[in-house]
Amino acid sequence: MSVKDFYEILGCSEEATHEDLKSAFHKLILKSHPDKVQDSNKDAVEFHQIQEAWNVLSKPESRKLYDVERKQTKLEEESIVVLARITSDELYPKNEELAYQCRCGSEYIVDKEDLQNYEQFYVACDECTFYISVKVNKNSLNHSSSDSFGT
Ligand SMILES: [Zn+2]
Repeated sequence: MSVKDFYEILGCSEEATHEDLKSAFHKLILKSHPDKVQDSNKDAVEFHQIQEAWNVLSKPESRKLYDVERKQTKLEEESIVVLARITSDELYPKNEELAYQCRCGSEYIVDKEDLQNYEQFYVACDECTFYISVKVNKNSLNHSSSDSFGT
């Protein structure tokens, strides 16, 4: 795993209470204190990580922020395979909606309303497990609507 998981470092689940985290931290810190162990290089790193994890998870505000961040990272790492990152300019009109060609031969269908409502969003392919990330180009949205009224 590329991102350090503070809960994993403390050996706790994300449901753990403050008291759970606290006692896990105290146990680990005793075990891995650089003064008490032989392999000081490896354990100095571990010691540092335990402290860092506790620093973040011991405060309700920073724990909350970390939880949100961790959730997003997991979503991106585990369940979403992003085939392409495009802007809304690259979508082509299809029926009443917009579309983008998927590698599998199917298409990503984008609701035009989504372009008004979001800055950036993910769209799932109907046929396969890929997603695309669509970044909305607000400027060109405005242009095309004023163009259509003519000058
Ligand atoms: Zn597909």
